[in-house]
Amino acid sequence: MSTIDDGMLYNQDIRRDTRPLNGAFKGRGHHYLSLLACPVDGTRLRVSGDTVTCAGDSEGGPAHDYRFEDGILRLVAPDRQAEIAALSEAHESACAAQGWTSPDEGAFKRLPQTGLPGYPDGYWAFVAHATALLWRFLEMVRQQSGGLPVGPVGEAVVIGAGNGWLAYALDVAGYTTIALDTAAGPRYGLGVYSIARYLRVQADPLRPPLARRACDVIVFQDGLVRSGRESDQRPALDHAVAALRPGGWLAVMHAPGTGEDAINAAEALVTGAGLLPAEAPRQTSWRARLNTLRERLIQRDTPPSPVLFAQKEPS
Ligand SMILES: [Zn+2]
Repeated sequence: MSTIDDGMLYNQDIRRDTRPLNGAFKGRGHHYLSLLACPVDGTRLRVSGDTVTCAGDSEGGPAHDYRFEDGILRLVAPDRQAEIAALSEAHESACAAQGWTSPDEGAFKRLPQTGLPGYPDGYWAFVAHATALLWRFLEMVRQQSGGLPVGPVGEAVVIGAGNGWLAYALDVAGYTTIALDTAAGPRYGLGVYSIARYLRVQADPLRPPLARRACDVIVFQDGLVRSGRESDQRPALDHAVAALRPGGWLAVMHAPGTGEDAINAAEALVTGAGLLPAEAPRQTSWRARLNTLRERLIQRDTPPSPVLFAQKEPS
């Protein structure tokens, strides 16, 4: 494959189809690599051929190379590649063992409104409910920032993106989107939707290799960490907060079945990190408002919100 320098990559739209990043996948805009950083030394990345290289060499350290495999950028430090690959394999096996269905293209695009067979009762209904709330929050941000109804709306990263259905939806909604997960397998991981227009990145979600102060929105799709371990939550959150622009937004979508204590603990961590949680925007339809009122009348306590949405201090 021929090597094309950075200047051409970022400046020459006319050469779109010959540019290597778009050779690896057909993306939206040119800004994907500016959202990422080397997982070893945190320096910026550039692409040459089908290899992404960090700037470590020009900043006094050794350079590190990362490659696209099956269209997925493998952005994992060399000494952790075997471990991350094993986690990805284990995820494929665990999902298969639970009898979860792997979606074809049509089923993938209908997520989460139309769930997949084999999942626990209520799983996808919960995810659809949480996703509807996330969209209301994002619409609130778009209106506050004076965004147009369609067109580029910002840069988003989904951490714990699984098979990528939410990253797909954010891309369709106009976000330049990165889907990040350890799981890169073809049945349950980032490999499920191979013609993705969002950039798929296999990386460590506990220490996501993101550039500092670069993202408008970061979504933890499966809780702060899939393990649920508190010792893992803090570093994952700290990396994400550092990657947000001032005034950027962090969303934590809680996994189905997450208990109220765990939800409250995550909120305490997020506010402890200096972020300000937003109130859930009002639902606009009469039917939705009536349902919410009915739920409150039936249940003495309002259930905890399935999505935490909080803003980094503007400065
Ligand atoms: Zn590096």
